[in-house]
Amino acid sequence: MAKKVIVVGGGVSGIATATYLQKNGYEALVLEKNPILGGACMGWERQGCYIDGCIHWLVGANPKSPTYKLWEETGALTPEVEIFDIDNFCVVDFGDGKVISMWADLERFERELLAFAPEDEKEIKKLCKLIKRFERINAPCEKPADLMNLGDLLKVAFTMAGDYLLVEKYSKVDCKDYAKKFKNPYVRRWIAEQVIANYNLMTFLFMFAHCTAKDGGIPIGGSLEMVKRMTEYAKGLGATFRSGAEVEKIDVEDGKAVGVTLKNGEKLTADWVVAATPAEHTLQKLLDGKYSVQSFDERFKDRKVYPIYTFTIAVLKVNEDTSSHPVSHKMYVDEPISLEQDHFAVTFRNYSYDKTLKVPQGYSVVQGAIGGDDDMYFWWGKVQEQGDYKAKKQEIAQKILQVYLTRFPHLKDKIEIIDVITPLTYQRYLNGRNGSFQGFVQTAKGKSMMQKGEIKGLKNLILSGQWLISVGGLPPAAMTGKFAVQRICKKDGVKFKA
Ligand SMILES: Cc1cc2nc3c(=O)[nH]c(=O)nc-3n(C[C@H](O)[C@H](O)[C@H](O)COP(=O)(O)OP(=O)(O)OC[C@H]3O[C@@H](n4cnc5c(N)ncnc54)[C@H](O)[C@@H]3O)c2cc1C
Repeated sequence: MAKKVIVVGGGVSGIATATYLQKNGYEALVLEKNPILGGACMGWERQGCYIDGCIHWLVGANPKSPTYKLWEETGALTPEVEIFDIDNFCVVDFGDGKVISMWADLERFERELLAFAPEDEKEIKKLCKLIKRFERINAPCEKPADLMNLGDLLKVAFTMAGDYLLVEKYSKVDCKDYAKKFKNPYVRRWIAEQVIANYNLMTFLFMFAHCTAKDGGIPIGGSLEMVKRMTEYAKGLGATFRSGAEVEKIDVEDGKAVGVTLKNGEKLTADWVVAATPAEHTLQKLLDGKYSVQSFDERFKDRKVYPIYTFTIAVLKVNEDTSSHPVSHKMYVDEPISLEQDHFAVTFRNYSYDKTLKVPQGYSVVQGAIGGDDDMYFWWGKVQEQGDYKAKKQEIAQKILQVYLTRFPHLKDKIEIIDVITPLTYQRYLNGRNGSFQGFVQTAKGKSMMQKGEIKGLKNLILSGQWLISVGGLPPAAMTGKFAVQRICKKDGVKFKA
């Protein structure tokens, strides 16, 4: 009889875990607290418009990429799924016509940046060379290092040792410090103000290089469709999914996970439990804080070195086809938007590139996002405590809209705010940490992380999910699902099949 495995959490990691379990002869049951599956890989509808809540770029979207295999194995991508390749990763617009375009065509990017900042010729050329080199760097997603045999290890050493050294080197460089190498004030600002304070250069290079390597495209149909494909694929292999099934605790007997208790009191037993839930929630709530994992503990304690990343977003319904506007447009303004700190830029994402997404004829959906860290979450928490949450959301959304109008004033009477998302929304929806949807940010001072997902003193429980690997994101989510099943197979003496 097949062994039963309960997978807690129906995000991309939980769904991928179920797929690999079924492929290896296990019986997987996924328990997801939300009414729909997908976790942070989400999408929903407001006022007749589909709002995509996730994929801005997907590593492994290119069939030639080694990461593509992961998406193929989990049914996320098939040859039939069309991929939109972003030609301009972000238009960084400082106002007054000062614009840096992050072209996916690296030669064009270099040419234009040299014309923009000729005083930085030497450093621009070095930067572009580095981006070119990073195009060849991929996360090893076949199996975790500790499960590799000598042959695997030698192969990795021969093919990836150089990559590893580069990743290590640039992980220790802060974007803000690196920016000082440049003389042009706009180039400096562009590099220094990546995502959040203390962002490391490696993450920036990796992200941009996957775009220039044409391996950061977006599946047409959006995030929710990708989750649906993955779920249908897992179901086809025999996996069972229960949504609206919130797990209250993981049941442990004699140092062994034996099942779970749901919020409604229902008890379910299993041979194995995989917790594909955010690590802090798993350790502190589902396991009642009884187990400690050093790599997580040090991260939970130091949110300056290991911050999270979150967003405050206003979703705009625009009564015009915005296809001719940039897909990603970071707009700087003189008058800041004050949240936990003054924000001088809003990044707008324009979804008109995907004609399959639901919008009324002639309309477009644009999302204006302000990025922040744990402090942004605590700030919104205080606003909520004071009873001002609803009003403040509208006030901030209005300000985001005003920023948009600085570049597209003719749209003044053609825009409605149809949704506002804050870090509190993410926290409620995902049970993450301080409103995070993407694991820990790796700062230059932080250590990189590749957690095994095993807890000392607790048998038959494996963790999966983006929190196990620094930087998070969709590939780590799926990859850790695969790794979790490889560990289970190893313990059970089953030869793993992908
Ligand atoms: C706005 C936005 C943009 C993003 N852009 C990108 C991008 O461009 N590229 C990229 O690679 N990644 C992107 N991401 C990140 C990506 O979505 C995540 O890294 C990934 O989806 C994480 O998957 P996961 O399964 O590890 O975790 P999660 O998605 O957090 O899944 C955990 C699941 O566990 C469930 N859960 C929690 N507690 C319980 C409980 N007690 N009982 C039952 N279920 C529970 C949650 O509801 C959730 O469904 C983005 C995310 C957002 C929000």
